[in-house]
Amino acid sequence: MEKRTEISELGEFGLINRLNTQASFYHPTARGIGDDAAVLGNGDTLSLVTTDMLLEGVHFDLSFTPLQHLGYKAVAVNVSDIAAMNGIPKQITVGIGLSNRFSVEAVEALYEGIRYACADFKVDLVGGDTTASHSGLVISITALGEVAKNKVCYRNTAKANDIVCVTGDLGAAYVGLQVLEREKQVYLSNPEVQPELSAYDYLVKRQLKPSARMDIIHELADLGIVPTSMIDISDGLASELMHLTSQSGTEVQVYEDKLPIDTLAYNTAVEFNLDPITCVLNGGEDYELLFTISQEDYEKVKKHADIHFIGFMKAKESGNVLITKNGNAVSLKAQGWVHF
Ligand code: ADP
Ligand code: MG
Repeated sequence: MEKRTEISELGEFGLINRLNTQASFYHPTARGIGDDAAVLGNGDTLSLVTTDMLLEGVHFDLSFTPLQHLGYKAVAVNVSDIAAMNGIPKQITVGIGLSNRFSVEAVEALYEGIRYACADFKVDLVGGDTTASHSGLVISITALGEVAKNKVCYRNTAKANDIVCVTGDLGAAYVGLQVLEREKQVYLSNPEVQPELSAYDYLVKRQLKPSARMDIIHELADLGIVPTSMIDISDGLASELMHLTSQSGTEVQVYEDKLPIDTLAYNTAVEFNLDPITCVLNGGEDYELLFTISQEDYEKVKKHADIHFIGFMKAKESGNVLITKNGNAVSLKAQGWVHF
């Protein structure tokens, strides 16, 4: 009998590693599988390409996701991967799978969000594909971008003693999803009751309409800083830290009291009996940037209001650790998102 391996045995990243068997390339490729975007070419300017697919029922629930927001998010998550390479997005192509449940107006609403994001991130929509779907709405976007050869940032180039930085605040998108799911249950059990979301505006927005931090990419360029490594935070901070350290051959030490969380996200996590720090470490979909800088560059960014210094890269010795508020060192585990 042929051997059958369950996908869950390998997990998402194990599966990708197993499929990644091409040892050499026919065309100049600086980086293939394994970073936020592929890096192509061999001139002074390199091309970037990345794809992200969103599926109804897996990545979004149309009972609480406005189509405009969904269109916006589908573009933003791709732009975020270009940003993570320190690149500038230029074009996107959009593939959609539609069932007859959708009207022309619904597709137009989706595209309104896509166009709104294109305007925000200054990217051009240059193509795509449209097909019928029997299993809900599918949106697959590919983004193309550019980066100067001497500015490209990879996941595998962090060094011991580098300072670990994150932008914005973390955990809010995950807490926002909890709020939306609770209100959906309330609504399903009693359709007379209108969802009470206004008190959670920021959290819901972080979940439904995340941004991509191109503002930070431009500011780092203005400050004359090229991060020593970078990744965007789509699966949770802990998981992304593991990608940086395992690919760079380093370990990391982060400080609980330095982790950025919004006050409303903190209080709402507590309301849901969730540990706010777990939401910060393992909640997904914040689409903030995680990067490392060399110690010499610290002076240039230390006053930046939206960049937080959460720890240090270390040489390999004792494992990845979180230093808690009372000074204990606990091992940092990546839960990430389990799709399978
Ligand atoms: P991100 O979260 O930044 O979008 P992923 O975790 O989705 O990154 O992907 C990690 C790496 O694996 C990327 O380089 C991506 O291009 C690659 N990858 C993911 N799925 C596949 C696939 N089915 N075939 C080839 N490469 C893939
Ligand atoms: Mg990414």
